[in-house]
Amino acid sequence: MTLIDVTSVGGPALAQERRLVTALPGPRSAEILARKADAVPTGVAHTVPIAAVAAGGGVVVDADGNSLIDLGSGIAVTTIGNAHPKVAAAIAAQAARFTHTCFMISPYEEYIAVAEALNRLTPGSFAKKTALFNSGAEAVENAVKIARKHTGRPAIIAFEHGYHGRTNLTMALTAKAMPYKSGFGPFAPEVYRAPLSYPFRDGLSGAEAAARAIAVIEKQVGADSTAAVLIEPIQGEGGFIVPADGFLPAIVEWCRANGVVFIADEVQTGFARTGTMFASEQFGIEPDLIATAKGIAGGLPLAAVTGRAEIMDATHAGGLGGTYGGNPIACAAALAAIDVFENDGMLQRAQQIGTLLHLRLNALQVADSRIGDVRGRGAMTAIEFVDPTTNAPDAALTAAIAKACIAQGVIVLTCGTFGNVIRFLPPLAISDDLLNEGLDVVAAALAAH
Ligand code: PMP
Repeated sequence: MTLIDVTSVGGPALAQERRLVTALPGPRSAEILARKADAVPTGVAHTVPIAAVAAGGGVVVDADGNSLIDLGSGIAVTTIGNAHPKVAAAIAAQAARFTHTCFMISPYEEYIAVAEALNRLTPGSFAKKTALFNSGAEAVENAVKIARKHTGRPAIIAFEHGYHGRTNLTMALTAKAMPYKSGFGPFAPEVYRAPLSYPFRDGLSGAEAAARAIAVIEKQVGADSTAAVLIEPIQGEGGFIVPADGFLPAIVEWCRANGVVFIADEVQTGFARTGTMFASEQFGIEPDLIATAKGIAGGLPLAAVTGRAEIMDATHAGGLGGTYGGNPIACAAALAAIDVFENDGMLQRAQQIGTLLHLRLNALQVADSRIGDVRGRGAMTAIEFVDPTTNAPDAALTAAIAKACIAQGVIVLTCGTFGNVIRFLPPLAISDDLLNEGLDVVAAALAAH
């Protein structure tokens, strides 16, 4: 296995460096962002005040020539690196062959090859099938449709701190009101919320947290009304919450005993992000259905539901699909990205990045008691900011640190139900030097606040 040559990612012209030639936004970006304010609604907000013109390896370059260190990967999408040469070549070749037929009208091999790859790569050696869609939310919606059709039951169990998307059903499934749900109801019915395992805040063992969740499900919903339990193996938007050992296996076991479909939302955790191809592997679970998107296609919009063949086949012909689902260019990009994930050392690179992140962030925590928790797996790792005396979430400090990092040319993202988590989702193509420099900037911001 060779690790990818980061200098070749994104083209040789893209220097792998942090370079600020203006304050952010520079004049050209400011001009473009002013047009955004006029042309695009305020609801579509942004956190980094630049207009991007190029990206690759570990950097994003803006319209003024500023080069920012990318510790966000466009929210965990460009995992193998932005504009990866293999993906770019596959996209160009496919675009020259055909751009669309609609898979429901005239099928094509690229879609089928992606389905075969996902059936092979997802956890579980049982027979599987895969359907393709356009976004993470659409994949989750379809997983719910499939589970309801298979079981003939209505209820879906989602969890505290869960995030599943912005469509009507996935808003209902998502826990956090602001900004995702506020004012957008009424929401879809038959969605119930169970308590999560959040070791830093609840102090429960996995078994205790699972017993608490199962009691809520049994008493407030009932197993015989429950089609599916839907959960992110590690909560993404909710704060990179890693459940205590044993929590997920106990929930899966309860699902199996009660004929309930267990759906893992691996939209953010999937595709090498956590150091294994899927996070479920690290918790020793084999989901019945698994929803994926984001990292799957190197930046093109593609999503999937993969699962047990008998569950996936419960739906009548014509019940699943969509005009663009499994677009051939997105599928060609996915096949190239999957090749990189499997053959270019991506799992090892995610593990290395995880080790580096934990080392640096643990050292920061030792020196600064406002970092209450360092958690995550691989290249999906975060710090939770608190008031050191009360452990109360400190969203103001979190926002100030993130803003200071961005102003210094380091793209960091925040998350968490309480808005007090900075998450690190670097592309795996980032060099150690650039990652360390980005973390130096975070440390300096922390020291200055
Ligand atoms: N599920 C999870 C776990 C996610 O992190 C996201 C996106 N952040 C989604 C679903 C929704 O994906 P999309 O934005 O592609 O609809």
